[in-house]
Amino acid sequence: MNLAYAAWLLAATLMALLTAGVAWQRRSAPGAWPLVLLLLALAEWTFTYALHWLVAAPEERRGWLDATFVGVSLAPVFVLLMTLELTERSLNRAARTALFGVPLVTLVLLLAGDPQGLLFGVRPLDAHNLLQGGPWFRVVALYGYALLVLSAALLIHFSWRSPPLYRRQATLLLAGLVLPWGVNVVSVLGARPFPDLDLTPVLFLLTALVFLWGIVGLKLFDVLPVARHLLVEQMAEGVMVLDERGRVVDLNPAARRLSRWSGPSPLGQSVDVVFANWSHVLERYREVEQAHAELLLDGKVFLDLQISPLYDGRGRLRGRLVVWRDMTARREAETRLRQAHAELQARLSEIEQLQLALQEQSLRDPLTGLHNRRFLQTALEEAQGRAAASAQPFSLVIVDIDHFKQINDRVGHGGGDAVLHSVARLLEAHRGTGETLCRYGGEEFVLVLPDTPLEAALTRAEAYRAALEGQVVMYGGQALRCTASLGVATFPTHGTDAEVVLTAADEALYTAKRQGRNRVVAAPPAAAPLS
Ligand code: GH3
Ligand code: MG
Ligand code: MG
Repeated sequence: MNLAYAAWLLAATLMALLTAGVAWQRRSAPGAWPLVLLLLALAEWTFTYALHWLVAAPEERRGWLDATFVGVSLAPVFVLLMTLELTERSLNRAARTALFGVPLVTLVLLLAGDPQGLLFGVRPLDAHNLLQGGPWFRVVALYGYALLVLSAALLIHFSWRSPPLYRRQATLLLAGLVLPWGVNVVSVLGARPFPDLDLTPVLFLLTALVFLWGIVGLKLFDVLPVARHLLVEQMAEGVMVLDERGRVVDLNPAARRLSRWSGPSPLGQSVDVVFANWSHVLERYREVEQAHAELLLDGKVFLDLQISPLYDGRGRLRGRLVVWRDMTARREAETRLRQAHAELQARLSEIEQLQLALQEQSLRDPLTGLHNRRFLQTALEEAQGRAAASAQPFSLVIVDIDHFKQINDRVGHGGGDAVLHSVARLLEAHRGTGETLCRYGGEEFVLVLPDTPLEAALTRAEAYRAALEGQVVMYGGQALRCTASLGVATFPTHGTDAEVVLTAADEALYTAKRQGRNRVVAAPPAAAPLS
């Protein structure tokens, strides 16, 4: 029988140590440290009790039996400390130290050998349990029960106001605790199935198992038990409960910060007073089932409001729950983002404009502002393409100012530039619809006349020439005049390639120069191809 008891107790010791190891791995979690210590106390208790069953000498037996009191007196203290941590209650250092008073006295008595029999009273040498003892024994027992009852009450209270997950954990802990101590109460009261064996430590094997299951299976210490009220207290969202008459029943600190209330407690006050600046919003949704509202306070605080009705068990409306989130920062970020986006768009279109301007500039002549030779290239290709598609001719006119060098020589380069600029303005002013005008070289200009046969082109060229001849340019107090010679050629009369037509016009221009200048000359009809 003794061996069986000892084996059972040693198994309990092992299990307690194993569980302590697992709890130790999670020692950063609330309650884990006291649990480790509790399990070590239980291990001490079961181990010394097991040894008591194994040794034969009566003195030794008594020694081991006495030694169980270290664990016996310490275990309830650790249970309470663990419960306090798990239920998020705190105890100051002095109170925590005071809890160890009774175990300390017990330890001192044990070490002193209990001379007055305070702890164990008078008992037969062959006693196998400590179920009766002296006055201090009763203190230890009562103290232990008091702490356990207190722990159980804390767990019950906690489980009562906790979400289901924590409720299960709290219930589990409660079961683990109540089991051995329940049996202990029964045995102290006298009912013992095994008269000589104290079942309390034996049943600690079950406690250890339940706790192990709690830690590994239910993730007791992996999910922090966050009390719901703490969550509401600390959350950034404003939470407020109104009763059916619109009085504030509850509001969290975030909500209080937004209120205009300066008195001691806004509870019981009408919401019109507490939130004077936006109670009208709540009023508007008074009769509504569920409402979602957006609110701008004082032009700067932006709230996103959710208003829900609160019903009691019988379905009667008892009040309203108002929850809101401060969206100001988010709105500001959105605005900033929009601004940045708009700025970016503006910069982009600015760059686009600049690019266009740059492109345009590369096709313009800086002195006269007319299109340049590069642009003429494209204009010629276009004119040729259009003419080929519409089977309509187009003509080119080259204008070259006569004796321009002499103007430069007479009034300097600046004067020459002024004349070039005036000529450009004059040609531009006379330009007909659809006609393209470019500065071709130094004092040479080219006109592209779309849909214009040779005869009509000659008339247009003559008009330009006459206008130039009549022009007077004032420069440095001097009146400058100039004439020009013009060569005209037509597509496809003088060539089926625009470049060839341009060369023909150029040749005609030289003919005009040779013939005495200040005149318009048409290119000669193209020589018939040799056959
Ligand atoms: P012609 O009647 O035979 O055309 O005589 P011209 O003097 O006009 O002809 P030429 O080709 O000998 O001289 C053209 C002159 O135009 C030479 C050059 O100095 C001048 N020139 C070219 N580009 C510019 C310019 O941008 N500004 C000024 N002021 N003069 C220019
Ligand atoms: Mg020239
Ligand atoms: Mg010239």
